[in-house]
Amino acid sequence: MAEKRDYYDVLGISKNATEAEIKSAFRKKAKEFHPDLNKDDPNAAEKFKEAQEAYSVLSDENKRKMYDQYGHAGVNGPSGAGGFGGFSGFDGADFDFGDIFDSIFGGAGGFGGFSGFGGGHQSGPRVTRGSDILMRMDLAFDEAIYGCEKKFSLDVVEDCDECHGHGGFDREECSTCHGTGTITREQQTILGSFMSKTTCSDCQGTGKTYKRKCSECAGKGRIRKNKKITINIPAGINTGDRQRISGKGNPGSNGGENGDLYIEFVVDEHDYFVRDNDDIYLEVPLTITESILGCKKEIPTLYGNVKLNVSAGTNSGDKQRIKGKGVDNTYHRHKGDMYVIFKVYTPKKLSREQKQLIERLSETSLETDEIRKFNKFTENND
Ligand SMILES: [Zn+2]
Ligand SMILES: [Zn+2]
Repeated sequence: MAEKRDYYDVLGISKNATEAEIKSAFRKKAKEFHPDLNKDDPNAAEKFKEAQEAYSVLSDENKRKMYDQYGHAGVNGPSGAGGFGGFSGFDGADFDFGDIFDSIFGGAGGFGGFSGFGGGHQSGPRVTRGSDILMRMDLAFDEAIYGCEKKFSLDVVEDCDECHGHGGFDREECSTCHGTGTITREQQTILGSFMSKTTCSDCQGTGKTYKRKCSECAGKGRIRKNKKITINIPAGINTGDRQRISGKGNPGSNGGENGDLYIEFVVDEHDYFVRDNDDIYLEVPLTITESILGCKKEIPTLYGNVKLNVSAGTNSGDKQRIKGKGVDNTYHRHKGDMYVIFKVYTPKKLSREQKQLIERLSETSLETDEIRKFNKFTENND
């Protein structure tokens, strides 16, 4: 037997291909080499098997890891394990063969010779849920703290009002499939002949068609509408928090429901209040005499001003907690605190009188323990 080809080469993908890329590459190869579609190519069956084998390894996270590390030896035992001999290794559980075989045979079931293709196959078009949408929304600081109502408009795909989502009027039996939804025909393959069932394309397998097509939605049953949406944003929302709006995402296909819309918030900063989760920090400026003598000071909080006693001898950087005056977060059911951080501002310009007063003050000793200790260090260092 010839040297085994690299699985990535077989599928024509790169070593860091994603799961989706692997799946799509295999889908392509399976169509390209399916033996029933390539009766003239004597190598088609071999190539089809090769692609299947590559897919079964690369689509399995563990097998792929083993293969990346050890090559073919890592995934094929001495007997060429994994059951690639026939088609028995495939249960179809994590791959929708319906996609491939729908397009080959135009429909469902009936693969007499392919014992492995069991799972996950349905007849008729596949129902898929629409994907979710993520949208960012800016909020002013106050809107996030206190909660607010926001209105915006959004394009949403919904059932057509005109035909109530049916796509047409006057339902009748499909004349193509006589109401059965499927068309049966005999297939000749290298594995023998068998009956293949095809989903009726005129009624999409429902067995019914409409006499008159709905012009509003062009028979699709669904229509794009610009909707005004109002959301209530709870107090305490912060940057990165998300709100889900069910059913306002991308449309599903073949009757599948819409995905959801997620709104992720970005909250503006405040000029003075600094938010750390539910705690609020506020820098409060003090004059030198306020810091030396202490004072009563009015402090702004999220919930109005409060009076605070600033004790004598307050330094820049000293912190004081005001309990319960942080964010009252109804979203996370948590109440934060507020922290006041003092900063002493020394004036650069003084009047003659002020200067005289300060000069008199400087004749007294204003040394603290910290200053005395530091002076001693300076002396010893010399
Ligand atoms: Zn039909
Ligand atoms: Zn309609």
